[in-house]
Amino acid sequence: MTGDILTLNAGSSSLKFAIFEAEQPDARPRISGKISGIGGAPVFSAKDAAGIALTSTQLARLSPASSHEELIALLLDWVERHLGGRSLTMVGHRVVHGGRHFSQPVRLDDNVLRQLDELVPLAPLHQPHNLAAIRAVAKWLPDLPQIACFDTGFHRTQDPLATLFALPRALSDEGVIRYGFHGLSYDYIASVLPDHIGAKAEGRVIVAHLGNGASMCAMQNRRSVATSMGFTALDGLMMGRRCGALDPGVVLYLLQSKGMDATQIEALLYQQSGLLGVSGISNDMRVLEDSDAQSARDAIDLYVYRAASTLAGLVPAIGGLDALVFTAGIGENSAHVRRAICDRLQWLGIGVDEAANDANEIRISSADCAIDVLVLPTDEEAVIAAACRTLMEP
Ligand code: ADP
Repeated sequence: MTGDILTLNAGSSSLKFAIFEAEQPDARPRISGKISGIGGAPVFSAKDAAGIALTSTQLARLSPASSHEELIALLLDWVERHLGGRSLTMVGHRVVHGGRHFSQPVRLDDNVLRQLDELVPLAPLHQPHNLAAIRAVAKWLPDLPQIACFDTGFHRTQDPLATLFALPRALSDEGVIRYGFHGLSYDYIASVLPDHIGAKAEGRVIVAHLGNGASMCAMQNRRSVATSMGFTALDGLMMGRRCGALDPGVVLYLLQSKGMDATQIEALLYQQSGLLGVSGISNDMRVLEDSDAQSARDAIDLYVYRAASTLAGLVPAIGGLDALVFTAGIGENSAHVRRAICDRLQWLGIGVDEAANDANEIRISSADCAIDVLVLPTDEEAVIAAACRTLMEP
């Protein structure tokens, strides 16, 4: 098993990538980077394993009009020139929705792609970009094997009860259930948890993935038992631009009394709500934390309140709590948000060591706290690379 693995995480406005050596399972990526600002002013950035920035004259002059397909062609060309004489052996993609059928990573072919196309309505803002990236790679490098790793996959172990909506059974039977997302992130955290808390990792753990998208997962034996996201990636926590859990009556009101159509409501719920909608300032937690505006404080307070409420709501699924893990951009970096969430959960026995929390240390729980509170960086790319290695084996 030699050669390089390319991981791709294609979103609506960004394309993240990493290059791993297939024969070095525990190694960090040789190169990682992203094209951000797609659709506006795209910017390319990349660094090698030592953190040294890598540039590209071609990719430095990306056109705002470039399609995802063109960007992938440019990126593949850049990647091939940075393989240092090695060859690309596989591309692994993050794909948001695998539906009921795909619980494990899968080798991609026309038949699988057709099945993934059918799931687009369940993740309208994510799945089309994931699938477009797969098709673009197939167009430019048709002989290169590609695999898909699903954000829903990790949650296929959920308690069936936790997947049901209180809707007529016929709808559940046809797949209107709670799937859950961010599975690659949870998979990674589950894999490193024993390194930090030993046998307790098999106990009752809640992981809070707080990034632009945000969700929580209640685990036991390092498997998903329940999660805050549902049928789509819109449910659960308040997010950067997404509203999170919402009284469905609001959607009826928007339709019936405000005369909004489905496209307008989709834009409102996915892109104009959350931190951005409540603050009216930004979807970026850093900007809100630096702002003196009352609306920024309101947005952070609501974010924290909703996160603490959601966490408490997941506890019955696992019957208590042995460890809490914060991860992703906000979870890994915002001492204020972590402390504020934990403060609202003191009654549950959660206590935070202020100095450790302010320093973003791995263990931030106070000495007298029976519940371990950890800050762990997530690594979705490592999970995709590991799946590539597994599917490469003869
Ligand atoms: P994505 O879901 O796009 O991968 P990330 O996991 O990178 O998102 O998280 C992005 C969020 O993390 C943004 O709201 C950003 O403001 C927040 N964030 C990153 N660094 C910090 C920081 N130092 N303090 C507070 N928030 C931060």
